[in-house]
Amino acid sequence: MDRKTFLKTTLASAAALAVAPGALVSCKTKEKKTYTPLRLSFQEGLTPGETLTEKLDFMESLGVTGFEPGGKGLADRVREIREALKGRNIKVSAICAGFEGFMLAQEPEVKAQFDTSMSEIVRAAGELGSTGVIMVPVFNWQEPALPHTLETREYLCDQLHKLGEFALSCGTTVILEPLNRKEAFYLRLVADAAAICRDADSEGVKCMGDFWHMQEETSDYAAFMAAGSYLRHVHIASRGNRVMPGEDGEADNYVNGFRALKELEYPYYVSLECGCRSKDRAAAITNATQLLRSQWEKA
Ligand code: MG
Repeated sequence: MDRKTFLKTTLASAAALAVAPGALVSCKTKEKKTYTPLRLSFQEGLTPGETLTEKLDFMESLGVTGFEPGGKGLADRVREIREALKGRNIKVSAICAGFEGFMLAQEPEVKAQFDTSMSEIVRAAGELGSTGVIMVPVFNWQEPALPHTLETREYLCDQLHKLGEFALSCGTTVILEPLNRKEAFYLRLVADAAAICRDADSEGVKCMGDFWHMQEETSDYAAFMAAGSYLRHVHIASRGNRVMPGEDGEADNYVNGFRALKELEYPYYVSLECGCRSKDRAAAITNATQLLRSQWEKA
């Protein structure tokens, strides 16, 4: 396009815009504004209460709608959990790991332990209507592990594809959790986990972000946006010492990440996974809930 034609085209476009301002305004006013609520979840172990019923009563008193149990022994607890949730506005969010062995084990018997125990947890997760089972392909301390090579990544995607399809057949998913480099060098970034989900090519393979481990990220916002529809779960803790959100003061700012979750209209849970500094756990967890809700509104 020469300069003359370019100017003609530009002027024509400008004229078209000038005669139809109403059309633009009406398009804009038709934009639907949706409000994404913060769906909070508590891990079972950190919730105050002696029994499951007491824990769920406490969650209900704070308007928390997600419950995250551990995967160990889950198959034997399906009936107990179902009964306890009956008539409540609380659902099982994700299941936190609990399997034996690990996916990238070099020893066939350790890999077999993973396959058997993980399938059992995935089946139970499906029966409970869980959003998915959280897994880490390999921790730094797990040895011997397959070397960190291209071939291992291909093997990981292939194994995840099979597991993801199995999870789908059970009505749930598997959720990859990236950790900080001290715990799992293999998988540190939310975007990398999302790329593995894409390459595993199964709707049953999803990923998550954990605000504690996300010290690896340069931006909470960018990390969640990169995960997009692969994002299935979020863990949250204070950002300095992994205790209750708010117990590390000013450092506990989640607004940037929350803004991404709201823009994504993220429909799953933000689940507390943390310790507690205060001796009054119930008060600390109540404060944390209030802090997270107020930051969600600001985001
Ligand atoms: Mg976590």
